[in-house]
Amino acid sequence: MILTELLIIGCGPAGMMAAIYAKRANKKVIIIEKSSPGGRVRSTYQVENYLGFGRVNAEELVNNMVTHLKQLGIDDDFGSCQQVTILNNRFYVKTEDQEYLADAVIVASGTRPKPIGCLNEQPLLSRGVSYCAICDGIFYENMPVLVVGGGDSALEEALYLANVCSKVDVVHDLAAFTASQGVVQKVLNHPKITVRPHTIVKEFIGKSVLEGALLENIQTHTSYSVAVNGAFIYVGNQPETAFLSHLSVTDEQGYIVVGTEMSTCVPGLFAAGDVTKKDYRLIATAISDGAIAALSAVKYLDGILNKG
Ligand SMILES: Cc1cc2nc3c(=O)[nH]c(=O)nc-3n(C[C@H](O)[C@H](O)[C@H](O)COP(=O)(O)OP(=O)(O)OC[C@H]3O[C@@H](n4cnc5c(N)ncnc54)[C@H](O)[C@@H]3O)c2cc1C
Repeated sequence: MILTELLIIGCGPAGMMAAIYAKRANKKVIIIEKSSPGGRVRSTYQVENYLGFGRVNAEELVNNMVTHLKQLGIDDDFGSCQQVTILNNRFYVKTEDQEYLADAVIVASGTRPKPIGCLNEQPLLSRGVSYCAICDGIFYENMPVLVVGGGDSALEEALYLANVCSKVDVVHDLAAFTASQGVVQKVLNHPKITVRPHTIVKEFIGKSVLEGALLENIQTHTSYSVAVNGAFIYVGNQPETAFLSHLSVTDEQGYIVVGTEMSTCVPGLFAAGDVTKKDYRLIATAISDGAIAALSAVKYLDGILNKG
């Protein structure tokens, strides 16, 4: 069993920022991460709205964040959190092969992509169907692909794919995109991108790999198929909170409900970043949450210490 003052679950921007603030306050801090550090920033190509960087390659931004952690001597433990349990006013946290006992916990586990739920989506996952253009787009160099979704992530990734693939069809169910106007204009003006509004994917086609998609125009109720080798889905996200569902700290969608100090209704349990119930999920808001959560956790830990 590993003992620590503060345990942070998730090494994305929120978790990393929290760790930096806690470490600078001289707390013993451990971050556990089930994948590689960087979180969802790793699933995009470039970031244009992070203060002080202008347009920056996402991988470079993540590497800078990780370097900042290492410079302070903070390491992330590889492990996927399975459960958080309260034990004598402390937190017992279990991963597949490790156990931790922490005085306070910050949950910064972010979100994962939501599937569309159409026929053959799961069987063809990683065989053409993907939730990450930056990870898998290169496999479809000079081939036709489909992007599903109409928000910022969908359109930004469609623009990235248009640099790599022969043709990009963007399918979305509404009349207009919900993405910001700058990105929408770039997509509408791009010669390799075809936009298909009022359209849903009914089925992905292919036996062992993706060969096409059956689409339906929900206004005219006409169905037709398009030949594509890759399909990239950006229809929203769901919170990574299954491991604390028994603590009643989430809303009906699974997002963690926090106050202004990023505290939950359980004393000593804080949350930060995309995993919390909020309106805007960005790197900037995640790191802000991370800093606040850490400062609140430090205050909580100092309170325990003073009580003896
Ligand atoms: C395609 C795409 C493009 C984007 N572009 C931009 C952009 O241009 N600008 C911008 O500001 N934002 C952008 N975002 C949003 C931004 O990436 C997120 O708001 C930000 O990463 C949230 O940080 P976070 O630390 O809260 O969560 P995340 O980045 O999701 O990090 C959470 C971490 O927790 C880990 N984790 C999850 N569950 C567990 C568990 N059980 N045990 C251990 N570890 C766990 C995950 O592996 C992950 O590393 C984009 C997002 C996507 C998907």
